[in-house]
Amino acid sequence: MPATVAIVGRPNVGKSTLFNRLVGKRLALVDDTPGVTRDRRAGEARLGDLRFTIVDTAGLEQAEAHSLEGRMRAQTEEAIAAADVVLFVVDARAGIVPTDEHFADLLRKSPTPIILVANKAEGKAGEAGLYEAFGLGFGEPVALSAEHGEGMASLYEALLPYVDEVKEAEEQRDVAVTDVDVEDDAAEEPAGTKERPLRVAIVGRPNAGKSTLINKILGEERLLTGPEAGITRDSISVEWEWRDRHLKIFDTAGIRRKARVQEKLEKLSVADALRAIRFAEVVIVTLDALIPFEKQDLQIIDLVAREGRAIVIAINKWDLVEDRDAAAQLFKDAHERYLNQIRGVQIVTLSGLHGQGIDRLLDAAFKAYETWNRRISTSRLNRWLDGVLIHHPPPAVSGRRIRLRYITQPKTRPPHFIVFCSRPENLPESYTRYLVNGLRDSFDMAGTPIRLSYRKGD
Ligand code: GDP
Ligand code: GDP
Repeated sequence: MPATVAIVGRPNVGKSTLFNRLVGKRLALVDDTPGVTRDRRAGEARLGDLRFTIVDTAGLEQAEAHSLEGRMRAQTEEAIAAADVVLFVVDARAGIVPTDEHFADLLRKSPTPIILVANKAEGKAGEAGLYEAFGLGFGEPVALSAEHGEGMASLYEALLPYVDEVKEAEEQRDVAVTDVDVEDDAAEEPAGTKERPLRVAIVGRPNAGKSTLINKILGEERLLTGPEAGITRDSISVEWEWRDRHLKIFDTAGIRRKARVQEKLEKLSVADALRAIRFAEVVIVTLDALIPFEKQDLQIIDLVAREGRAIVIAINKWDLVEDRDAAAQLFKDAHERYLNQIRGVQIVTLSGLHGQGIDRLLDAAFKAYETWNRRISTSRLNRWLDGVLIHHPPPAVSGRRIRLRYITQPKTRPPHFIVFCSRPENLPESYTRYLVNGLRDSFDMAGTPIRLSYRKGD
């Protein structure tokens, strides 16, 4: 039986468009049992090598807003309950509206796994909504354009843990991701050359010292700093050379705009950060040494990790720190508490104002980039897995052992591993963390986000 995926969301977010894209011309069955499922459409969906049944709840929202609590709710709940996973679709252009919140409440109560999809995300108009969607609390939204077919590779990855592929797992070993528009990143030459400069973004909350740092790195007053900033320069990125290596820096629009839009400061800075992060291979998160690891800092770090970028943390304004031992201790604690998903991340102390520590920072950026690109051979991975299974096998669930059969790394940037497993849905989250940390330690991947997904295969 193929897995069942339900599309849920308020009217007009693009559910039918997504349904049609996934089903294409293969619309096979229309479930029109009167009453209960009257408006529910189902079809056989295909995404890369994934096959599943998709159920569109588009008709359900025809109900009047006031009956949301009634008919529509019951039907949507039924569709959700019957599904293995739900695609909760919101409109990245319109942003989050109260009806979305209604659906979010409904979905939060359900045990069915939820994948948040921010549709209409093509171009720039979707950026703010994307960040708002983040606030719904379902994790990172999959940015999609159902109409233009963009973001389908991300959707593929998000669905991977819940949905089976057509071919036998055995045959899938070395070509785990096919037939979707995943870039063939392995073929790319390393960045740092004139032809392919390393793409870097410097992000951080307002006043952390981003523009000062960028100016110092570039060696000239390209961006105005300080509270009066509001000066425009239109280029998106600037290239420069450092020790014979080429870099390209994203010139965050928010840095320039911020003074003019004070009232929207908080929101804007994160939407801009998202844009910068997507541009970059390596993201430098700038923190203010006097007030590091504030909530917004952690949000930005989380965003970078979720976007899967290489990351370096810059502790700026180090010149102002008097008790450096205490500060260093604080970073150590922060590491334990907040930085688990990028354990071992490089933390560089510096002063953008005085230009101290910039070489160390750029060294760290190239090092993070290398780790991010690391590819580990299938044979080494499986030798490692054999060891894991001896010393720390997965727990038995309902009296049956969960079997991990095989591991492979189909992607880098960031490293992405797939484990073939008999009952992935029963593996505790803690075991996944154990595997990720083990991979990180065993293969020298400190500080990089790591993706691990499962495929069902006995
Ligand atoms: P539903 O009511 O949720 O099923 O939404 P529809 O699939 O009917 O789409 C509502 C409107 O949004 C239609 O006009 C679509 O053409 C449009 N739409 C759907 N997907 C996208 C998209 O990715 N980008 C943009 N810009 N418009 C879209
Ligand atoms: P942005 O909002 O992140 O771009 O921050 P700015 O670069 O505009 O810096 C905010 C304020 O912090 C300005 O007054 C800078 O002069 C100051 N600043 C930036 N970097 C440093 C630093 O390394 N040391 C000190 N002492 N002040 C700094």
